[in-house]
Amino acid sequence: MSGSALYNTFARLPLAFERGEGCWLMTADGTRYLDFASGIAVNSLGHAHPHLVAALTNQASTLWHVSNLYEIPGQNRLGERLVEATFADKVFFTNSGAEALECAIKTARRYHYVRGEENRIRIITFEGAFHGRTLATIAAGGQKKYLEGFGPKVEGFDQVPYGDLEAAEKAVGPDTAAILVEPIQGEGGIRVPPGSFLRGLRELCDRHGLLLIVDEVQTGIGRTGKFLAHEWSGINPDIAAVAKGIGGGFPMGACLATEEAASGMVPGVHGTTFGGNPLAMAVGNAVLDVVLEDGFLEEVARKGLLLKQGLAAIADEFPGVIEEIRGTGLLLGIRCKIANTKLLDAMRAEKMLGAPAGDNVIRLLPPLIVSEEEIKEALERVRRAMRTVAEADAAAEERAQA
Ligand SMILES: *Cc1c(COP(=O)(O)O)cnc(C)c1O
Repeated sequence: MSGSALYNTFARLPLAFERGEGCWLMTADGTRYLDFASGIAVNSLGHAHPHLVAALTNQASTLWHVSNLYEIPGQNRLGERLVEATFADKVFFTNSGAEALECAIKTARRYHYVRGEENRIRIITFEGAFHGRTLATIAAGGQKKYLEGFGPKVEGFDQVPYGDLEAAEKAVGPDTAAILVEPIQGEGGIRVPPGSFLRGLRELCDRHGLLLIVDEVQTGIGRTGKFLAHEWSGINPDIAAVAKGIGGGFPMGACLATEEAASGMVPGVHGTTFGGNPLAMAVGNAVLDVVLEDGFLEEVARKGLLLKQGLAAIADEFPGVIEEIRGTGLLLGIRCKIANTKLLDAMRAEKMLGAPAGDNVIRLLPPLIVSEEEIKEALERVRRAMRTVAEADAAAEERAQA
């Protein structure tokens, strides 16, 4: 038996935190880490935000859980606010991102089913995508390493290269129901498609009677400086999945849809025990209180630019370490020339946290409430980490030549 009672599914670092405050995480011995990972875009308002703490503790002393057998006023309120803030007319609450995607996939298939086109079940997805770890969402993501050993792949997903409109069009057939896309690929490595990509997909969907599903689990709820990231391209999807940032650390997600797209989702066809529970709704509403405040999203965009410019300057200083800085708002990626894990280790030695991603990228996703001071501090720590790995690299090269 290995040392832990837990599944060995995570390659955990030997590091535990006891407390958090704003953009900072503290270990038991009081060491402070600057948190630019935010639980992978989850702690949208940082740690222990007073407004969120108050909302959750008030709700905890009132009512934890009922059931979707009854009206849940917090659900109606959060639903109405999401509808008000987005393209959507209808909302289904879930506990996670993968479940929000499951709901999105089911919504798209039912849309065609109730129109008598039950053959239309296929969904076009993109290489490098990540949509979750359920059986359907690993099929949607299409990554071998997540599919292997789990039996037959759930049928109905056709994958094409990300950003390739022509390939997407070629993949459309008589059985195609929808296109599912991340506005920016998060786990895939902060891959930003050309601005025309989403517009092209929208057009393609309109031409072929397909639904456009955007996976905004990582990009949504203000992360890029818009409430949802697809807004940058000026189009509206038919369905969107959100999660991560909407709970600010409380597990929750939502599937948003237009009235038409959701028309197949009638009583009894879908459900959830925990989704939309009063605790989650209290926190979700509190997150929106802050994120939808006048000027908040503009601040995210401004601070994102500041961080990106600072990183670009560091990239110029260390051309041997950094390939590229990319991303939008506070969803930024450092594409490395050396192993991203090496640079992450060096950053951690500077008491600074980022998150790894595909394509040899380090994600920087600070809480949206990050201050300019903290951005400057983060840039200093990243610069010091760069110096460490650049010097180690130079020393290794010298040894190799000797
Ligand atoms: C994290 C993520 C998911 C999965 O969310 P879970 O809450 O882990 O199920 C799906 N899509 C994207 C884009 C994500 O970043």
